[in-house]
Formats: sequence, structure tokens, C-alpha cells
Amino acid sequence: MLLIECPWCGPRAESEFSCGGEADIARPLDTEKLTDKEWGDYLFMRKNPRGVHREQWMHTQGCRRWFMAQRDTVSYAFQGYETFARPLAVMEQKEEGQSK
Ligand SMILES: [Zn+2]
Repeated sequence: MLLIECPWCGPRAESEFSCGGEADIARPLDTEKLTDKEWGDYLFMRKNPRGVHREQWMHTQGCRRWFMAQRDTVSYAFQGYETFARPLAVMEQKEEGQSK
């Protein structure tokens, strides 16, 4: 089971969360001047990297707050998270077989 750390509630099961997709996508300010291609790119085109990726997550079954997480798409390991009011907090990396 994958554990995701909510900035407010702490580590919880992945099943409590909803992924909101790629983080840091800003809505264009003047949408009237966009071409169809530019509008389509904003709406539909997303990165799909192999490696580190920034994503938005919501703790749907908990506090229902949004936060941003940095995750490795190869190992699924969450490397850190940030709220919209607080910069990236790097998570403590645990070695396999290490007890608390
Ligand atoms: Zn929460």
C-alpha cells in the first residue's frame, strides 16, 4: 500500500487521496486572444515524465485540502510536498528494513 503524507493529517493510505494532475499550470490571463491551438494546449497538453514530477493532490477522504507533491513516477516515491502557502518540505527518506 502506498502511503501519502498529507501536510495537515500526516501519512494516510493512497485510497484517501485524489490526484489532480500536473501542478503549476497557470490559466492564461487573456483567453480572448488565444488561438485554438494555444487554448487546446492549455486544456489538454500535459507532461508525462519518467522521473520527478510535480502534481496536485487532494485529501478527498480526509481534510479535503489541496496540496502539491513532488513524486518520482518510476518508483512512486513521494519526495516532498508543499501547500499553496508554504514552500516545498522535503520528506525524510526511510531506508528499507529500517525500524522506527
Ligand atoms: Zn488531510
